[in-house]
Amino acid sequence: MGIRQLSSETINRIAAGEVIERPASVVKELVENSIDAGANEIEVVTVGGGLSLIRITDNGSGMPPHDLLIAVERHATSKLPEDNLFEIKTLGFRGEALPSIGSVASLRISSRTHDAEDGFEIKVIQGRKEDLKPAALNYGTKVEVRDLFSTTPARLKFLKSERAENSAITDTIKRLAMAHPEIGFSLTTGERSSLRLPICEQKSEGILQRLGGIMGKEFIADALPIDCKTENIKMFGYTGLPTLHRPDTSQQFLFVNGRPVKDRVVLGAVRAAYDDLIPKGRHPLLALFIVINPSDVDVNVHPCKAEVRFRDGGRIRALMVSSIQQALEAGGHRTSSRTGLLAMKALENSLQNKSYTFNNSPNTYPSLLNKEFKSREFISNFDYEMQAPFLEVQRPSADTSANDGITSPNQLNRPLGAARAQLHETYIIAQTKDSVIIVDQHAAHERLVYERIKSMLNKGGVLRQSLLIPEIIKLTDDEILALLERSSELAELGLILEPFGSGAIAVREVPALLGNTDVISMIKDIVAEISMDGSGSPLKDRLEEICSRMACHGSVRAGRRLSADEMNALLREMEETPYTGQCNHGRPTYIELKLTDIERLFGRK
Ligand code: ADP
Ligand code: MG
Repeated sequence: MGIRQLSSETINRIAAGEVIERPASVVKELVENSIDAGANEIEVVTVGGGLSLIRITDNGSGMPPHDLLIAVERHATSKLPEDNLFEIKTLGFRGEALPSIGSVASLRISSRTHDAEDGFEIKVIQGRKEDLKPAALNYGTKVEVRDLFSTTPARLKFLKSERAENSAITDTIKRLAMAHPEIGFSLTTGERSSLRLPICEQKSEGILQRLGGIMGKEFIADALPIDCKTENIKMFGYTGLPTLHRPDTSQQFLFVNGRPVKDRVVLGAVRAAYDDLIPKGRHPLLALFIVINPSDVDVNVHPCKAEVRFRDGGRIRALMVSSIQQALEAGGHRTSSRTGLLAMKALENSLQNKSYTFNNSPNTYPSLLNKEFKSREFISNFDYEMQAPFLEVQRPSADTSANDGITSPNQLNRPLGAARAQLHETYIIAQTKDSVIIVDQHAAHERLVYERIKSMLNKGGVLRQSLLIPEIIKLTDDEILALLERSSELAELGLILEPFGSGAIAVREVPALLGNTDVISMIKDIVAEISMDGSGSPLKDRLEEICSRMACHGSVRAGRRLSADEMNALLREMEETPYTGQCNHGRPTYIELKLTDIERLFGRK
């Protein structure tokens, strides 16, 4: 058999094998074309998961008849000025999509430019091009793709269910739409859930609005802005508070020069940036846009263009980690608005169950009583239940009331407000101008101790406070040995201890920020922590655990009474210390109940 030139039909099919993997790839190519054509309204309709029909209508530039003729030819593109592959600014550039689609489906494109009286259409039926015909339509372009893969049964076999294809299509449009808030998108699949994304303002609020439309409303409330610029790179977007997380990374989006990409570098950078702020196995939400000189990035790695290669990947990664961390630090004391909402939900439920609403439900109690009246026991229980909440009000477990104290308006303006009371020796109730804050004092203190010690370690050492009378602690020989082996490490963490005769050690200094500490319990806890891990790994590697053991015995731990001044000091410290919105285990350290929500709870709004 001799060598022969492949027919253009065969070449197109081979290319289609690369570019057109599934219906979602068709949608991606066509919507990208509409974006490149400057459209600001793009409508997508699919039937049968895109196999029966994909129709894309845009109001972009449109094509004059002779362009329409060559657009469906291989390697015909209007987007590669002077064949310079290193300066790609548009989404398309290969000139492969339309001929590829035409080779594996029935393709019909009708188009009309803004200044033309009439439109034209061209058809390519499974690789065969038909003649140009006049067509009636508004300006812009309408592309219809029918019977996709009907002549390539091998490809059909690899497709998933109609629903899976629809969801891949939805995902494709969402990603493109995130990068283009200035364009309105709509998607109608056969299924009920269709997508409507109206045009947003092009400013940063517009981006956030669009992101919320896709990643969920709660992301809007919990998004921290990222904004960073160096000489050659710009990074912007939003990253979620650490208290907002998902079981997978599907809500992490990266865009390079407006192009949605998937990149392992990013996943790694996000993980590094959130490090110890997020519970294990959970993932934050993020949408990050990178604008970079087109010649510093290679988008030509993969025909589907979902991968990119940076000329300097290490730098991009470093910049990403630091800009995310900056955003987190700036929003440090904030906690997910969701935790507040969850609390409101819980409150609502408990209120509904107890039916405190006396007004228009006079029948509730009699009917209850009638049914169960026979049992005296029940009556007494019932009485008690009904009384209980009121008893609690008469005998509140409020440990401290800061009401009479000096509340400067200054404090009310602070993010965590002015401390009002401590309840159950565990919760600090504070008031801001428009909300009620409830702080879990123990969780908050744990986080503070950890962050403070971490930053002091970085700056050279933990501030210590010497004990007036050294604390003498009896321990076993093994325990003493374990501690003394680590004494220089412990000194770095602010704990100075020495041997004291046989069978005991003396603690001379403790970290100043612990306040009044139960030194004996703390040391015993640290011994336990050290011996729990037999590997002898540096204590710094287990800083979180060590710090939470220390914090456990500091003066602010749960079950300690705090004065008004102490409470306010804690709130101010939380505001000043980065990452205090959640404790070392990813639980929130405080929740904020907005007055408007509380009012809604009481039916006032
Ligand atoms: P590429 O996008 O890589 O240039 P395509 O095969 O996707 O290649 O498209 C070929 C050409 O057809 C484009 O360069 C563009 O000039 C034109 N084109 C395609 N779709 C549209 C559209 N929706 N509106 C205007 N022009 C379009
Ligand atoms: Mg294209």
